[in-house]
Amino acid sequence: MSLVDLPRYEFARPATLDETCAMLAEREAKREKTVLLAGGTDFMVQVSQGKLASDPLPLVVDIGRLDELRGVRLDGSRLRIGAAVTYLELQRDPIVREYAPLVAQMTHDIGGPTIQARGTLGGNLATASPAGDGIAAIAAYDPIIEVQSVRGRRRIPMAELQTGYKATTRAGDELIVAIELPLPAHGAAWCWRKVGTRLAQAISKVALGAVAEVSGGKVGRIGLAIASVGPTTSLLPRTRALVTATPLANLTAATVDAVVAEDVSPIDDVRSTREYRVHTAKAVVRGFLRELGAPV
Ligand SMILES: Cc1cc2nc3c(=O)[nH]c(=O)nc-3n(C[C@H](O)[C@H](O)[C@H](O)COP(=O)(O)OP(=O)(O)OC[C@H]3O[C@@H](n4cnc5c(N)ncnc54)[C@H](O)[C@@H]3O)c2cc1C
Repeated sequence: MSLVDLPRYEFARPATLDETCAMLAEREAKREKTVLLAGGTDFMVQVSQGKLASDPLPLVVDIGRLDELRGVRLDGSRLRIGAAVTYLELQRDPIVREYAPLVAQMTHDIGGPTIQARGTLGGNLATASPAGDGIAAIAAYDPIIEVQSVRGRRRIPMAELQTGYKATTRAGDELIVAIELPLPAHGAAWCWRKVGTRLAQAISKVALGAVAEVSGGKVGRIGLAIASVGPTTSLLPRTRALVTATPLANLTAATVDAVVAEDVSPIDDVRSTREYRVHTAKAVVRGFLRELGAPV
């Protein structure tokens, strides 16, 4: 599709978050369609696929410059990332690099430099693709997703956000405002592994975000999240339970593989097979546990 073929969308840029919420509520009450625009990297794909070609066309509401959705802040042991902060900003942010290196590392593997310069975590979470790399990276921290509407602000634990393929508990008139990461102890182990056809510009076949606090041969806190192995990002609950209950030296490849297999439910699709995804999920989890000292 060339630029001249693009539908002519009406465009609005409210000045504040409250104004945006009021506009969304009013339009929702009148059953008028609206689409939010942050970086526009998923939006443009939807436009070119004809998914936003309803009659009348939806109103495009630019939220990318709202102050309330911008910035990164460290509050004690919590890192707050505005939903409209771009991947490039995260990549360059000294606080993110120091306190959430996994998030900083992930940003290098999202699309290419142009996507990194525009794309946002808010957009990744709202699209809620099971292949979302940003979701897999932040989900390892068990974050809280802050959303706002005219009814007020709501804090949604990551484990309660995704309900199915590209489906979330966020209401249609709720904006994602920020992501709050409860940080592990400074210097905790972490890893980011993306397996795709290529390193860059490839949708993940499997992507793992992981953080862990290790002391005296035991894992205290562990966060694991893996993309592209089911309809939603898997938080690997059985694997986490096994790893925190077992001294690292007692873990075996067979027991780890068995729980990972229970935690994932991938499909065959154009990018990969179910079998390869299960195999790779086990391999990347064991790779991280080996780095922690487990003989797996
Ligand atoms: C070439 C290319 C490569 C890509 N590579 C990757 C990749 O490697 N990994 C990956 O995970 N993704 C990838 N993507 C997908 C996309 O870049 C990401 O999902 C990105 O994070 C979307 O963010 P955005 O700000 O551009 O969203 P937008 O396109 O602005 O918005 C996407 C959707 O989210 C909604 N939305 C946006 N912000 C909010 C908010 N704060 N609150 C509520 N709703 C909101 C919008 O209404 C819209 O429906 C790629 C896309 C392209 C085109």
